[in-house]
Amino acid sequence: MIQFAGLKDGLHSFSYEVGNSFFDSFEQNLVLGGEVLVNLDLDKQSDHLVLDFSFEGNLNVDCDRCAVSAPFPIKGSSRLILQLESGESDDADIEYLSSDAYEYNIAHYLYETLALSLPLRLVPCEASGDKSICDQAVIDKLEAMSVAEPEVEEEIPTDPRWDALKKLSGDK
Ligand SMILES: [Zn+2]
Repeated sequence: MIQFAGLKDGLHSFSYEVGNSFFDSFEQNLVLGGEVLVNLDLDKQSDHLVLDFSFEGNLNVDCDRCAVSAPFPIKGSSRLILQLESGESDDADIEYLSSDAYEYNIAHYLYETLALSLPLRLVPCEASGDKSICDQAVIDKLEAMSVAEPEVEEEIPTDPRWDALKKLSGDK
């Protein structure tokens, strides 16, 4: 929550440490937690505010490859403009508040910005450079699958019934 009414016109800087409790407060399961350092440069003007966020840290996400939850590094920046007048905006980066607004809750915007900084394909094990977790989990899974569903080998000792079946399928 930023209370900007008491701020003088001009530039103000804030920093936030966003942790697990922040992500827990949103009903979602994309981001399971994390630790992100957020810096906010707020430029207050008489009729609008420019909020420049920059952030760097890790978000805990499920790996698309091995489904193991692991920290994924993120880094980025975004700009939000708050207009102190009524109006409507289709632009996610511009929000209209009323002229007598005195505070703004940045939590939702911040959450979306951080979550959107994640790529579509999430393989935290690759991003961190430590592939061992992922690879081992995938190997384990593949091994479990090959035990459960043994593949029919080509070199099965010749069995007359099997040969007949092969012929049938070959004649399709
Ligand atoms: Zn993985």
